[in-house]
Amino acid sequence: MQLHMVDVRGQYARIQDEVDAAVLNVIRSGQFINGPAVKSFTANLANWLGSTESDPVHVIPCANGTDALQAAFMALGIGPGDEVITPSFTFISTVEILHLLRIIPVMVDVDPCTFTLDPAAVANAITPKTKAILPVHLYGQCADMSALRALADAHDLALVEDTAQAIGSSWETAPGQWEQAGTMGTIGTTSFFPSKNLGAYGDGGACFTRDADLAERLRMICNHGSRRRYEHEIIGMNSRLDSIQAAILDVKLPHLQDYNAARQEAAGRYDALLEGHPMIATPYRHPKSDHVFHQYTLKFNTKGDGPGLRDHLARHLGQEGIPFGVYYPKPIHQQPAFVDVASASAALPVTDDLTDRVISLPMHTEMTPKQQELVCDAVLRGVDDYL
Ligand SMILES: *Cc1c(COP(=O)(O)O)cnc(C)c1O
Repeated sequence: MQLHMVDVRGQYARIQDEVDAAVLNVIRSGQFINGPAVKSFTANLANWLGSTESDPVHVIPCANGTDALQAAFMALGIGPGDEVITPSFTFISTVEILHLLRIIPVMVDVDPCTFTLDPAAVANAITPKTKAILPVHLYGQCADMSALRALADAHDLALVEDTAQAIGSSWETAPGQWEQAGTMGTIGTTSFFPSKNLGAYGDGGACFTRDADLAERLRMICNHGSRRRYEHEIIGMNSRLDSIQAAILDVKLPHLQDYNAARQEAAGRYDALLEGHPMIATPYRHPKSDHVFHQYTLKFNTKGDGPGLRDHLARHLGQEGIPFGVYYPKPIHQQPAFVDVASASAALPVTDDLTDRVISLPMHTEMTPKQQELVCDAVLRGVDDYL
């Protein structure tokens, strides 16, 4: 049986005719840059995110999720010497773009159950130089947006949501009122990298905002700081979603809800197969967030014991041909490129400990119960073999 961490080809097979036709349509039209496909997808995604006439969500497409983050901070006018509070337990982009803009990344710890920004740690890190909070909705679950929004409001800070892993997730901001990931903060950013929950067949990304002025600035920034051709009002970048990717995403968007549901079903099956083992913690679901399982990540009950069990299991799975991932094997504050900035951050014991204890299992829209049994058999044998 062929097992994949992510099965982009199996997913494609089910929508092949539609995707092929959409791609050919763009090629035949010759409108590769900012063509009708980009406008159509952008409008459809805004609707999908709950945009209404009275409360529009603006979607600004760009080349990838990293650019989306960079454009967000450029649009907010946050720059050299300003501080932004963000996790270290994340993909490199989140902190990289801050450093590129000469913003001081203040990395704080995460909650040991949700792996997302710990609001108490954020509160402790706020200084007069703080300009924004940058939570990451990690693995497909929202950070505590109620607490973070309250902090941002109280201290007049921007709130930028890195939604690269969590498109389609939501958070209960008031009893019975659920808001979409990426639309609760000042700006939300996402990625259409092929393995993400809404993946293109190449690179892509977008910013979301409810603020019309910020939307205009974001559009300009992604287009060389320009509104009118050859007139450059501000410094921008060249960051576009290409028309072929937009056409593919437009075909996939109507399936996103089902794709996320398929991931949730697969997560439920993993839970059933693994629950009850004394060394394994299956993913915690925060009652105020739904989890769209970009990753299905186990945490071992080996607090403070280092990476022994995890690394043993990784070797065991490797030998058995079972794909797995470790997100992330080294937090940002331990990366050589960030040794200088890491000193601005406090000690991060939860992040360091989680780094030793997590492992992610294959997760995608095409998982079958049989495949999952195979994966879990290997996991359970690997863990028991260590003990
Ligand atoms: C994937 C990812 C990004 C970057 O997206 P790209 O499209 O690859 O640039 C940023 N942040 C997080 C948390 C991600 O998972």
